[in-house]
Amino acid sequence: MSYYNEYILVVEDDIKIRNYICYSLQAEGFRYITASTGQGALKTLVSEPIDLLLLDLGLPDIDGMEIIRKVREWSEMPVIVVSARDQDKEKAAALDLGADDYLTKPFSSTELLARIRVALRHFYKQGGNKTPAIIQVGGLRIDFEKRLVYLDDKELHVTPLEYKLLSLFFKNVGKVLTTKYILKEIWGIDYSSDTQVLRALMAGLRRKIEKNPAKPRYIVTEVGVGYRLVDE
Ligand code: CA
Repeated sequence: MSYYNEYILVVEDDIKIRNYICYSLQAEGFRYITASTGQGALKTLVSEPIDLLLLDLGLPDIDGMEIIRKVREWSEMPVIVVSARDQDKEKAAALDLGADDYLTKPFSSTELLARIRVALRHFYKQGGNKTPAIIQVGGLRIDFEKRLVYLDDKELHVTPLEYKLLSLFFKNVGKVLTTKYILKEIWGIDYSSDTQVLRALMAGLRRKIEKNPAKPRYIVTEVGVGYRLVDE
């Protein structure tokens, strides 16, 4: 009763969480294999045709970060990090190392499966390499050829910086973009503690695209990590 062809590697040393993840995957029809150590994970990654990696950061032998670094040396497979709530810094670092997304424990089965689908969709889209000329998310639409943004079919006036920021999010729908990554892409700043400029730009943009900027529907804040354009 497999509905998906993807083969998922679940790396988690906590047996309860691992079982929970496995039941969720099974119920959805995903094929999976598990590892409870970093060494076991690396061995499986090189010997099995893994399509997506679900990775706990706190492992008994190797740090999860080290596994991301190693995997990225040879593979672009989607990597979703699973971590505890108080590890915001680690989450951001994991994303910067090349992880695609993260889940905070405890998480629901629905959330887990949604993130997996988003990561896979994003991965295959990249395989099609070209970004489509027009992307629509809810009532928000961007036309890359004309460099225009529309909200509920009305043209939206945005500044060049706002456009740059929006197009970055539209090219990464559903993905968390870290503050560090955004600063680098928009301003070319390699690392900066000056997140104030980004916050100001984001505030301005939200006033234009969000009905309630305090409770954004499109670009949500991922506390301590960055931002995400939500595809509903
Ligand atoms: Ca753990």
